[in-house]
Amino acid sequence: MQKGKACRSCRKIIEESNTDKCPNCGNNAFTTFWRGYVVVINPENSELAKKMGISAAGKYALHISRWMRLRFP
Ligand SMILES: [Zn+2]
Repeated sequence: MQKGKACRSCRKIIEESNTDKCPNCGNNAFTTFWRGYVVVINPENSELAKKMGISAAGKYALHISRWMRLRFP
C-alpha cells in the first residue's frame, strides 16, 4: 500500500491525510493510484524536473493510473 496521495494536476505527493488542497498548484483532486516517485530538490538544475514541468521542490509521482481519463473527465 502506498503512503500518501498524488495531485492529479502536478503529481505532487501529499503525505498528510488531512490536506485536501495541493500546496503546489492549489488543485483539490488527488489519486491514491500512483506508482513510483521522484524527489526533486533543485528544480532549476534538474533535467527531469524540467521534462515533467515541475517548478517546486518536493516528491512527485511518476505514474498515475488512468491519468488521461482523470485529467479529462
Ligand atoms: Zn498539484
